[in-house]
Amino acid sequence: MKLNIVIIGSGIGGLAAAIRLAVRGHDVTVFEKADTPGGMIKQLEWEGYRWDMGPSSFILSEQIEDLYLLAGKEMKISIRNFQLDPVSRNFFHNGLVMDAFSDMDAFIKEANNKTGESPKSIKRYLNKLSRRYKITRGVLVQNTFSTIESIFIPRIFRAFVISRYRDLFHTVNGMNRRSFRSDYMVQFFDRQASGFGGNPYKAPGTLNLYSHLMHNLGVYYPEKGMYALADELWRLADHLGVNFRFSSKIQRINLKNGIVKGVSTEKEFIKSDIVVSDIDIRYLYKELLRDYHNPQKYFNDEPATSVMVFYWAVDREYSELSFQNILFSGKQREEYDSLYKKEDVCTDPTIKLHISSKQVIYDAPEGCENWVVSVSVPGNKGQDWGVTGDSLRKTIIKKINKVLDTNIEIHIKKEFRLDPGTIEEKFGSFQGSIYGSSYNHKLSVYRNHPNFHKQIHGLYFVGRSVFPGGGIPMCLTSAMNVDQYISKHYSLGN
Ligand SMILES: Cc1cc2nc3c(=O)[nH]c(=O)nc-3n(C[C@H](O)[C@H](O)[C@H](O)COP(=O)(O)OP(=O)(O)OC[C@H]3O[C@@H](n4cnc5c(N)ncnc54)[C@H](O)[C@@H]3O)c2cc1C
Repeated sequence: MKLNIVIIGSGIGGLAAAIRLAVRGHDVTVFEKADTPGGMIKQLEWEGYRWDMGPSSFILSEQIEDLYLLAGKEMKISIRNFQLDPVSRNFFHNGLVMDAFSDMDAFIKEANNKTGESPKSIKRYLNKLSRRYKITRGVLVQNTFSTIESIFIPRIFRAFVISRYRDLFHTVNGMNRRSFRSDYMVQFFDRQASGFGGNPYKAPGTLNLYSHLMHNLGVYYPEKGMYALADELWRLADHLGVNFRFSSKIQRINLKNGIVKGVSTEKEFIKSDIVVSDIDIRYLYKELLRDYHNPQKYFNDEPATSVMVFYWAVDREYSELSFQNILFSGKQREEYDSLYKKEDVCTDPTIKLHISSKQVIYDAPEGCENWVVSVSVPGNKGQDWGVTGDSLRKTIIKKINKVLDTNIEIHIKKEFRLDPGTIEEKFGSFQGSIYGSSYNHKLSVYRNHPNFHKQIHGLYFVGRSVFPGGGIPMCLTSAMNVDQYISKHYSLGN
């Protein structure tokens, strides 16, 4: 059966859904309010510099290969990925520097040398996460827990009983404290797990599985930068016959008797059998389904944190820095408290410093570097981000100068900024959250909105604000789930 499908939004989730559904032979049209595809995956260019505006790397790169395999096409050279090694260079507050190598033995040796943590405990920790991931993978990412049958299946009981229930009763930080003697190792692994916008003092220990994905499976970067990912997936979808309508904002999803009939822009009504939404679920209920019952629980859930980003054109090179660098806070507890409890920012935030020109030489002029400096900040509640940004910039510069023994300010030739207010406005993301909901509840993954609507026939959801959550791999998984649900609901086979 050939279905008429409209996708709202061309973020990574929308693009992946478009490819999967076009491969099945459906008639797919993507409506995107911006004039380019990719949503949060954007890039900036200025006088020989190129910066990744959004994501700076990703995990589970085989998900991209799967899309090409499905389409029967060879993956484009521009998005062949290289594995980051080290994954990150970590600068702790008292001067200790540790490289997180992707090779497990090299990482264990480095961590033992630098922090004194015993090789046995690091190995035990990573192996334990690896075993748990194998058991829980299917449950974690391919089950929306949205129907009775999906809850009562043996593999869920098995996963829960064998491993996960213990982690549910510990926090990320609690589990890491139990696993390591060294405070450095605890801080390092707390940060890995909270990479999706969670608070390690509240988020369940299951999130430590993210450290397994980074350290046992690897972190990747496309050869021509992150935007190449969005650009090439858009070209692949276009090649498969997907129709893209840019600069077209959808204002309403049209229903009749609980069945999707199509969507409306300001000027026209577009008929469709199915609508797949890649936009923030809260914004969808508030605006596009405004006449429909508004499920309050999704508005009550705490959003993941937002981010303040500075893009700097730096006129010299720093050999002491790597591709991804983390300058840790000396006040971790205060930092996480301020992210969730207050509206102002921490006085000593953890700084992430991404420099793609370390590997991709044409991303900056010779002898120069393209710095992307970011810190997590609370969500947008109308704060003055100009003032907050200025004060954060001073804090960041002071810390970088101390760590690198430099005067970075005189080497910044040009600066651009991205703040939570702009993220909310540009991408329609609730409070500027970049990963959907916060993961701070014990069952947060399962509290995410399911990938289909249980009452509205023909309405499906992908992207960061729905199951299994935010970040590139999760959004790609949501597209796979939606493809499978549509096949099941319309009896199209696997
Ligand atoms: C600074 C930053 C750093 C990040 N770092 C990482 C990282 O290192 N690794 C990682 O995996 N993830 C990272 N992320 C998160 C990741 O980018 C997102 O979770 C993911 O890209 C979201 O994809 P999505 O499919 O939800 O769509 P989005 O990217 O949110 O796109 C939604 C699209 O819908 C469009 N739209 C909205 N409303 C409408 C409408 N009414 N009609 C038509 N179109 C509409 C928007 O214009 C947008 O293009 C980062 C994000 C940011 C901003």
